[in-house]
Amino acid sequence: MELENLTACPVCQSSSFTPYLQVKDYTVSKDTFKIVRCQQCQFLFTNPRPFAQNLGSYYKSDDYISHTNQSHNPVHLVYKLARTQTLKWKYNLIKKFNPATLLDYGCGTGHFLNYCASKGMQASGFEPDAPARTIAAAKGVPVLPSTQQVNKQWDVITLWHVLEHIPDVNRVMDWLYKHITTHGKLIVALPNPESYDARHFKQYWAAYDVPRHLSHFTKKTFTLLAERHHFSVEQILPMKLDSFYVSLLSNRYKTNGFKPIKSFITGLKSNSYANKTMNYSSLIYVLSPQHP
Ligand SMILES: [Zn+2]
Repeated sequence: MELENLTACPVCQSSSFTPYLQVKDYTVSKDTFKIVRCQQCQFLFTNPRPFAQNLGSYYKSDDYISHTNQSHNPVHLVYKLARTQTLKWKYNLIKKFNPATLLDYGCGTGHFLNYCASKGMQASGFEPDAPARTIAAAKGVPVLPSTQQVNKQWDVITLWHVLEHIPDVNRVMDWLYKHITTHGKLIVALPNPESYDARHFKQYWAAYDVPRHLSHFTKKTFTLLAERHHFSVEQILPMKLDSFYVSLLSNRYKTNGFKPIKSFITGLKSNSYANKTMNYSSLIYVLSPQHP
């Protein structure tokens, strides 16, 4: 399939990049993709990458479970277990901000959305993928099919592992700024390529997930993007369960086997190193919009 070659860094617009890593798509196409690093701002991104209109075909696999509910292997069962644990934790995080309204941007099959609604929150979602949206909507919560012509603002907008999939991060950050209330919060969860598990697994690190992941943000590069769009980073929080799940999946890519003990140890190591550096496998950024 033909690929799109970016000639300007999506974060700082510089045109000089250096090769960073070659990573295989283990779940769908089995093709190899390049990740490059911007020489000016160090942003890591998949380049070249599929054209936006072709991205959908890279999600067509039984293996890609955030959009479905199938689980036919042990790694998926671990994912589902962790997801249930994480739901409550995410909800408690949001509750602290006492939002009257919540938008889950890229809500997938609507697990988080449904959980928030069941707790009495006025929650809605946005999901461009029609099959996932149908599953989400069947749970009885409103789900937008598009973000165009939406004249509404929300107190909290969440993007749980969504922004790394989006081709035009600048357009989306602008949209988010316009659709968040003055004292609202934007919550963005992202994988962290500076984590111990990323450095340990290198090209096998499951959270590179090319070409579905187009951006590979670090604390520095995400802060840069946020500030360019008038958000300030208020807080960075760890997602401590992700290191275990990502290690399980990475070991599967590396050895083609199920390695629960090895993965558990790598997960523990990752969290332990991150205790000092805040470089957890995944991070949650809490952002506030800045007003002139
Ligand atoms: Zn750059």
